[in-house]
Amino acid sequence: MDDKKYFCYICGDEITDKNCTDEHIILNAIGGHLHSYTIICKDCNTRMGETADAKLAEDLSFYTDFLGVKKNRQNEHDQIMKDEDGHEIIVKEGGKSLNLRKPYVTSEDKDGVREISMAVRNRKELEGFLKGMLKRKELTQEQADEILVKAKVTEHHPVLNTSTMISTEAFPSIIKSAANFYVDRTHDTATVKPLVPYIKGQGECKDVLYLHHFKTLPYPEIKGQVTHMIHIEGSEKTGLLYAMMEYYSIYVYMVVIDRNYTGKDVNMTYTYDVVAGQEVDRNFDLPLTMKDLEDFRNLPHDEYVKYLPYVKKRADAVMAIWDLKKNQDELHDVIENAFAKFPEGCEMTPERMAVVQKDIFDFFEKIILESMARKEKRRN
Ligand SMILES: [Zn+2]
Repeated sequence: MDDKKYFCYICGDEITDKNCTDEHIILNAIGGHLHSYTIICKDCNTRMGETADAKLAEDLSFYTDFLGVKKNRQNEHDQIMKDEDGHEIIVKEGGKSLNLRKPYVTSEDKDGVREISMAVRNRKELEGFLKGMLKRKELTQEQADEILVKAKVTEHHPVLNTSTMISTEAFPSIIKSAANFYVDRTHDTATVKPLVPYIKGQGECKDVLYLHHFKTLPYPEIKGQVTHMIHIEGSEKTGLLYAMMEYYSIYVYMVVIDRNYTGKDVNMTYTYDVVAGQEVDRNFDLPLTMKDLEDFRNLPHDEYVKYLPYVKKRADAVMAIWDLKKNQDELHDVIENAFAKFPEGCEMTPERMAVVQKDIFDFFEKIILESMARKEKRRN
């Protein structure tokens, strides 16, 4: 610790060598790396927002796992998503493996013809189902054999559903992150005092927390970046001091720090690219007023839905990054496996190189075909 005195912005105690603690300004569980020893005391760190922090981490865990975001503490768990056909699939961390959660068999009569559709996890499961149907005389042996031959292996692609939203129980954690950043940068604990009850879970968070979307972003978008961001802006002119909180480039919340702001102009931004694992420079002005926030909150439903394509577009961009990452991982495996066909250290003759090249070519062909099939499906 240096000679300056620091005080916990939650309880007001002086922070000393004895009670200091490592507080992550953005949750480490979602890949936040910025931290501070001079904003919260140890007791408050232990007591505050533990449930809210855990809830926020849980609500965002789809993206955390999917993008394989690095965090200090690993809490691996599977995600249940849906694929494009509506089947539930299990997504392992990093999005590396996507398996059906359970088999799906439907059967319906269409104009006197029985249509059976099956989505199963493996060949053995398929054989089991066919055996049962044979026993019940729902199929002939010939038909069963034909199904076995024609069964095709498809990859599951997860689609986002509305359940990936941030819940109200997580709101205190968002407010705490905003206060953390403000105090870390300014060491002005008095200004964030009104936020403390909400962080402690003692107030209706909606008083200070506003969901917000944009039709166009207030900063230049860089392709391939997925960011957590805290932007604090305030001016006497707008009369508002607020923090814009962005998670995974998708979720945006505004935390109102002072709605009667008369202090000097403030503009500071911290942006962390979770995919590249590094801080990025982002500077912009967003002179919001309290009226802007209230107006957005009170939008009639049919006006509000006009903002949703923005959210969808950003979520799609994140998914595209996952696709790219996954393909890179796979390509790496393909090359390794191709070279592993030959004894280590052996000479790579043109014939051997041709074998490696063919494997790589096959891989790209597969990706291109898959991508074309998906585009076709989206069109229909
Ligand atoms: Zn404290």
